[in-house]
Amino acid sequence: MNAETTLRLTQLLDTPKKVVVVGHKNPDGDAVGSCLGLTFFLKQLRHELTIIMPNDFPDFLKWLPGCDEIVIHDKDTAASAALLDKAEVIFTLDFNSLDRTGDMQTYLEKASAQFVMIDHHQAPDGYAVATYSDVAMSSTSEMVYHLIAALKGLHLLNKDIATQLYTGIMTDTGSFRFPSTTATTHKVIAHLIEVGANNSEIHQKVYDTNSPDRLKLLGVALKNMRFLPEYHTAYISLSQKELDANNFKKGDTEGFVNYALSVEGICFAVIFIENKQDGIVKMSFRSKGTFSVNEFARNHYSGGGHINAAGGRSLKTLSKTISEFISILPSYSDALSHDS
Ligand code: 5GP
Ligand code: MN
Repeated sequence: MNAETTLRLTQLLDTPKKVVVVGHKNPDGDAVGSCLGLTFFLKQLRHELTIIMPNDFPDFLKWLPGCDEIVIHDKDTAASAALLDKAEVIFTLDFNSLDRTGDMQTYLEKASAQFVMIDHHQAPDGYAVATYSDVAMSSTSEMVYHLIAALKGLHLLNKDIATQLYTGIMTDTGSFRFPSTTATTHKVIAHLIEVGANNSEIHQKVYDTNSPDRLKLLGVALKNMRFLPEYHTAYISLSQKELDANNFKKGDTEGFVNYALSVEGICFAVIFIENKQDGIVKMSFRSKGTFSVNEFARNHYSGGGHINAAGGRSLKTLSKTISEFISILPSYSDALSHDS
């Protein structure tokens, strides 16, 4: 975190404040881990803290210290609105554009609080008085560690904060394997283990949580996998009917797209997930090498993210979405002509 942002934050947090910490819609391990870690740190500086998530987070995170206190905006809208209204400072974590909070966006836009952004996605918006944005970072949770260091608070790290931040870094780096994982990331992780994160237990709690339903759904996803070798592309689709037939629960499809990306010669992978309730098809894009799925998602699917991991959505039917996707690929044939 640079000196200017550090100074702004120091001034902003100079006296005890009513602080709300917000993550993005469909919160993942990094959103939940970073919000919890920052909250547990700021509480020790005598601020009053609440975390609000736009909607619920997956069960595999529901053991994290402090997660029971998280307010879910779409379940408890009145409480969330009141908190946002009274907040003096709102931290937005793991996203950089207010439309990433879904229906919560209008409430955030009405809030009179000063905003702080901590995020590692591309193309940050300018809504914050203090912006800590770094696209080279592995995760927002790693950034929270660097923020704590910049505010000279590393002595306040404890087992809970270490566990929360470890979980966020682990999930956003695919367990420390994505190119965003640096030597510094590993140094941060080493320190988190030193102050109490139990690495092996965290891995088990997050990843060894398969239900028979999820594995059956994975079977359907793998059966539905299609290959477009000319474009080094593989895609998976799941219809609402298939989700319903396997008792789909939030988080069940997490990581499915990586099976498509793990196929030899594939450098671009997509999963299309029908969501009849929202009237959309949600897409997750993953790539290897230089093909920017962030740009692809921004150009065609009102989405974004990182170079190698992004998301987006389509308002068309599942089959139309897929056929449209296939029709777009020829215009990327140069970029997709090499496997990585
Ligand atoms: P996922 O595919 O796991 O939902 O998301 C992959 C990455 O892209 C994450 O970093 C996520 O925050 C980002 N992302 C997912 N959906 C969207 C979207 O609709 N808009 C933007 N800007 N980013 C997204
Ligand atoms: Mn993240």
